[in-house]
Amino acid sequence: MPQGTCPECKATVHVDEDADKGDTIECDECGAVLRLVGLDPIELDLESDYEDDEEDDDDYDDDDYDDDDDGRDRYY
Ligand SMILES: [Zn+2]
Repeated sequence: MPQGTCPECKATVHVDEDADKGDTIECDECGAVLRLVGLDPIELDLESDYEDDEEDDDDYDDDDYDDDDDGRDRYY
């Protein structure tokens, strides 16, 4: 099982085999919520560091544009 180091208490944190980048893991030692930021090697960051970080916006919806104003069937 892959292991990382808790940035908070330096304890060894076991990371699930099928964990993926961006997953959060709780440190058994200090209870800090850690985010998996790298897989090879395992890199963990405190989740609280990411509170204001919106760049990892997975549920961004690329809304279909409602193309009711394209002029393809209009003839001027
Ligand atoms: Zn810890």
